[in-house]
Amino acid sequence: IDPSSTPPDAFLSGRPAPAARPHDSHKGSFGDVAVIGGAPGMTGAALLAATSALHAGAGRVFVGLLEADAPALASEYALMLRAPGTLPLDRLTVVCGCGAGTALGDLLPTAIDQAAALVLDADGLNALAADRRLHDALRARAATGRPTVLTPHPLEAARLLGTDTPAVQDDRLGAARRLADAFRCTVVLKGSGSVIASPDSTPRINPTGNARLATGGTGDVLAGMVGAALASGLAAADAAAHAVWWHGAVADGWPAGRPFSATQLAREAGRGLVQR
Ligand code: AMP
Ligand code: MG
Repeated sequence: IDPSSTPPDAFLSGRPAPAARPHDSHKGSFGDVAVIGGAPGMTGAALLAATSALHAGAGRVFVGLLEADAPALASEYALMLRAPGTLPLDRLTVVCGCGAGTALGDLLPTAIDQAAALVLDADGLNALAADRRLHDALRARAATGRPTVLTPHPLEAARLLGTDTPAVQDDRLGAARRLADAFRCTVVLKGSGSVIASPDSTPRINPTGNARLATGGTGDVLAGMVGAALASGLAAADAAAHAVWWHGAVADGWPAGRPFSATQLAREAGRGLVQR
């Protein structure tokens, strides 16, 4: 894929590229994102998602770290650290689960119930797989019309489906569709050729991305990008498609020989997604 090419309309269901930021816009114009995650020893995952949401164009980005004594190690000074229980979730696009370990507790059902828009990743998905009541909560959320995107890698998808990773990989389209139908929301089944599925629509297979992305933290970066795209007002399936496309396109356009890491990727998360 030529990384400077734009996604085909068919991939984005005809939705045009994000509009240029109007001259009179302010930070309230692009939506607020809150990342909830980062248990002790895993604060980096939450900070990667938050950094990427910031670079991908969110107006303001809050981080509710589960590590209460986290040192002020945010590499981006524009991030706003908050106690997770104090975030006004009903006004936020919530990215929940990056590096959360088993520390989410009531924050997950509360986020499913209240978030204006919701991305569930990583340990948020593992918690979902472990608690049948959260299935019902997600279905109830779907009935309210508020957008939700799940971003499992194949093992997380297998846990959600009660199967194993080879079975998911043998039928990636089917697995993504079954998850979208079960939870009534948009699902990104990650990996080479990420599948984006939503209830009652044809799944899309992302053509961008490469094995550079097979390194720790790139999934957290994607979760932040989906969060920023949702906060900008895109519908769930389009937010997922835009984010997945550009996440891969940045990796495809990475200069040979330049070191690549999720930290670097997070700082490039606006490429293609935001016009400024
Ligand atoms: P995670 O497994 O949560 O860290 O997410 C890894 C991210 O990198 C996902 O967005 C994957 O789709 C992407 N990724 C990993 N390996 C590859 C690959 N070989 N080709 C394309 N994308 C990949
Ligand atoms: Mg991950």
